[in-house]
Amino acid sequence: MKTLVRHGRAVLPEGIEPLDILVEDGQIAALLPPGTTAVADQMIDAAGCYVLPGFIDFHVHLDDRIGPFYLADTYGSGSRVALQNGITTLCSFVTQGAEESLIQALNTARRKAHGTTHTDVLWHLTPTRFEGEDWTNLEALAATGYRTYKFYTTYQAAGIFADQQRLDEVFRRLGPLGARFLVHCEDDDVMAAVDAEHLDLSAPGTHGRLRPEFAELLAVEALLDLALHRRVPLHVVHVSTVTAAEILLRARGSADVTCETCPQYLWLDETWLDRPDGHRWLCSPPLRGSRERLRELARAGAFDLLATDHCAFRKQDKDAWDHRDVRTAANGIAGLGALPHLAWKLWADTPDRAALELAKRLSQNPARRAGIEDRKGALRVGLDADLVVLDPTGPETPLVSSLADVHETYPGFTSNLTFRHVLLRGEPVAADGRLLHPQSPTGILLQPQP
Ligand SMILES: [Zn+2]
Repeated sequence: MKTLVRHGRAVLPEGIEPLDILVEDGQIAALLPPGTTAVADQMIDAAGCYVLPGFIDFHVHLDDRIGPFYLADTYGSGSRVALQNGITTLCSFVTQGAEESLIQALNTARRKAHGTTHTDVLWHLTPTRFEGEDWTNLEALAATGYRTYKFYTTYQAAGIFADQQRLDEVFRRLGPLGARFLVHCEDDDVMAAVDAEHLDLSAPGTHGRLRPEFAELLAVEALLDLALHRRVPLHVVHVSTVTAAEILLRARGSADVTCETCPQYLWLDETWLDRPDGHRWLCSPPLRGSRERLRELARAGAFDLLATDHCAFRKQDKDAWDHRDVRTAANGIAGLGALPHLAWKLWADTPDRAALELAKRLSQNPARRAGIEDRKGALRVGLDADLVVLDPTGPETPLVSSLADVHETYPGFTSNLTFRHVLLRGEPVAADGRLLHPQSPTGILLQPQP
């Protein structure tokens, strides 16, 4: 089966070119000057559109329990809203529970996603136990395609906290095996020292005082030192403060460090928490007061990639909060379906620039950080034909972050981006924002069975 995507403007890493894209056996077979006669079984018209590599959301929570609440999105529903918006690969998380091996946790996630995911899926792993067999498992996983490991400098009660000594040990032991490290940077000691008794815990706005900006800054500095010392690749997730972003920007020259921010830190701020329904915007790190400056930094390239930290809870779970202690409310927000739209908005005045930035920060850079750049992340011969035919001049429509029963994170936000066609490994899977085969998911799990 050969497919030709023609008359579009191909967004290559080097620039935008009018090229037809020939797809064969699920891969990009050729990039052809327009007008070349190529024999194909199927033609897709991309006239007036950009053709981009499929987007990759590097940071998504799906089908898992977070504290007392179960997430609203499964692999099925999460991948569906993703694909409708040009996201063809989701990077989600597997966290080892107290009573299981990491391989058991991974197999549970594989069972949930297998046959239900509409996008391709890759997992970042969070080990939480470090006894004899756990290390054997980790070393075996690191050697077989599990490249990315996520750690938290907070959340002791949830059993996922890693102290400096633990981080040093995993950096030292897994680093030489090719592992890369994602770290949630909020210093637990700083947060423990906050005098919560004298704060109004019934106000959602207090969340920012319980998790102060300084906690992020301190954790980022400590992790940078450690990563530099052990010479391991470090990726700082969901940077929410200007000072941490600036420190990470300066560290690029001396360390293999990358970072991401999320649309909520660029387009929302702490005033959302002061609304009567402000608890619906609780997430960690909290919404801050510096979105304009963060957007300037994002436009200047301070964030290697943009990812959502999609962590959607059902309306009933969000609203079950008794308005007594903000620390007990469901903590996380949806964002998956809004990602490309809010990323585009950063450069919307110059559409060609926006298209190039999306190709880089939503596809190429996340593919590289995940270690799948030999398979995804660019329009290049031999890579998977995950293609997005994007029309930036479609009708204005409201953003939809999730298809589950959740409160919309971005009410009142609209976008003109229309996803005319989305191809996953060469197969057309969505057109004009709708799935072509909603009952037949074709996503695959990119890592091997452990
Ligand atoms: Zn997260």
